[in-house]
Amino acid sequence: MNNIELWQSVLAQMQFHISKANFATWFQNTEIIIKENEKIVISVPNAFSKEWLSNKYNKLILKILHDIDDSIKDLEFIIRPNSAKNSSFKVADEENKVSEEIQLRFDEFKINKETNLNPRYTFESFVVGSFNELAHAAALAVSENPGLTYNPLFIYGGTGLGKTHLMQAIGNKITENLKKKKVRYISSEKFVSGIVSAIRNNSMESFKASLAPIDILILDDIQFIAGKNKSQEEFFHVFNSLYEKNKQIVLSSDRPPNAIPELEDRLRSRFEGGMIADVSLPDYETRLVILKTKLQEKNINMPEEILEYIAANVKKNIRELEGALNKLLIYEKINRKIDIETTKKLLKGFVFSPFDVANYKKIIETVARFYNLEEKNLFDPTRRKEIVKPRQIAMYLLRKELKYSFPAIARKFGGKDHTTAIYAYKKILQENEENNKLTEELNLIKQRIYSG
Ligand code: ADP
Ligand code: MG
Repeated sequence: MNNIELWQSVLAQMQFHISKANFATWFQNTEIIIKENEKIVISVPNAFSKEWLSNKYNKLILKILHDIDDSIKDLEFIIRPNSAKNSSFKVADEENKVSEEIQLRFDEFKINKETNLNPRYTFESFVVGSFNELAHAAALAVSENPGLTYNPLFIYGGTGLGKTHLMQAIGNKITENLKKKKVRYISSEKFVSGIVSAIRNNSMESFKASLAPIDILILDDIQFIAGKNKSQEEFFHVFNSLYEKNKQIVLSSDRPPNAIPELEDRLRSRFEGGMIADVSLPDYETRLVILKTKLQEKNINMPEEILEYIAANVKKNIRELEGALNKLLIYEKINRKIDIETTKKLLKGFVFSPFDVANYKKIIETVARFYNLEEKNLFDPTRRKEIVKPRQIAMYLLRKELKYSFPAIARKFGGKDHTTAIYAYKKILQENEENNKLTEELNLIKQRIYSG
C-alpha cells in the first residue's frame, strides 16, 4: 500500500470519529509525506492545524494507522503550506485500489452547492423497518406534497439513526421531481452562526432575504438552537414567514420538542403543530438487512457468518453499523481475506452495551482528559483559569446531558453553594452561543462522551 492509500484509509476511518465539519476543518490538505521505519510524517497546511491535530487527534490517528499497519509506532506533523492540494484528500484516481467505499466517505465533495444536499441520501438507499416506519412514511408524504401535508415535519431520535439521511432524502426527491422548488438543507449549527454573524454585522435583513425564496427549508439538529435566545427569536420570524406562505419546513432533533430544555414556548408549540415522528434502534434482523443493502450498493459480497456477527454485536446505531462494515471492507481491500476471528479483533471498538452511554464518571473523566488535567484537579478549590473553565464545563455537562439538579452538582463539587453550579451552567451556556471555539470544544467533548 502506498502512502496515498494509507492516508486515505486513515481519513476514511477518522470520519467515523469526528463530525463532518471537524473533519473538513482539520484534515483538508493533509498528507503522508514520509513513511520510514516505524514513523509516519504528515504534512499539514498551517500551524493551527498542526497544533490541533497533534493535541487532539494524535492518539486516534496513530491508533488507526497502527490498526492498519502494526509496524507504525510514531507520528509527526510538519507544516508545509499548500503541499497537499493534489493528494489523498482528492477523489481517488483510477488505479487507486482503495477506491469505491473510501470515496463514499469523501462524498462531502459531491454535496450540491446550492441545496447543500448529499446525493447519496435517498429513499432508495433507506431501509425501512418498524423502528422508523412512521418517520419514513411522513417523509415520503412530505416529499410528494411539500407544504401541504405535514408542516413542519419534526423527526427526532438518537444519533446515527438516520435523521439526516431521511431529511435529505426528502430534499433530493423534491429536487428531482419538482425542479422549480428551491430546497435548502442547513445544519442548525450553520444556521445559528449565520444568525449570530448577521446580528454582529447588522445584516439581519439580507440574511432573512436569502431565506425568503426557499420552498423547502430543512434544518438539521434543531436542538442546537436551545438556550440561544437571539437565534430563537430570529428563527421564530423565519419560521412564521415561511409557514404562512405554505413553504415546507423539516426539522430534526435528538429529542422531541417537549424535551428540549430552554426552547422558547412559542417555538415549541410551532414544532408541535405539524407531524412529530421518531426514529429508534433497528432490531437484529433489520441490522442484517441494512448491512446487506450497503453491500449490495457497493456490489460486494461478504460471508453470512461475518454479517451475522456484525449485526448481533454492533447495536449502538446505524452509523456504527456502517462504520464497522467499512472497517472490514477496508481491511479486506488492503490486507487479505477476512475471517470471523479477524472480524472480532477488528470490531472490538464497535461492540458496546446499549446501556453504555453518558454517566457521571464518563463526563468527569472526559472533561479532565480533554483539558489535560487529572480528574481530581477539577475538584480543586482554586480560581485558576485553566481549572475553573473545565470545572464549569463539567458542571454544565452534568446538568445538560444528565439532568442533574443544581444542588446535586454542588454536592459533587465539594458542597459548593448551588448558586455556583447555576452560575457555571449559565456562563457556559452563554459562552457557547458567543464563542465558536467553546462550541467546538463542547462538541468534541460530547462526541467523546458518547462514543464509548
Ligand atoms: P443521524 O442524522 O440520525 O445522526 P444519519 O442520517 O447521519 O443519522 O445516519 C448515519 C448513517 O447511517 C448514514 O450513513 C446513513 O446513510 C445510515 N443510515 C441511517 N439510517 C439508515 C437506514 N434506515 N437505511 C440505510 N442507511 C441508514
Ligand atoms: Mg444527523
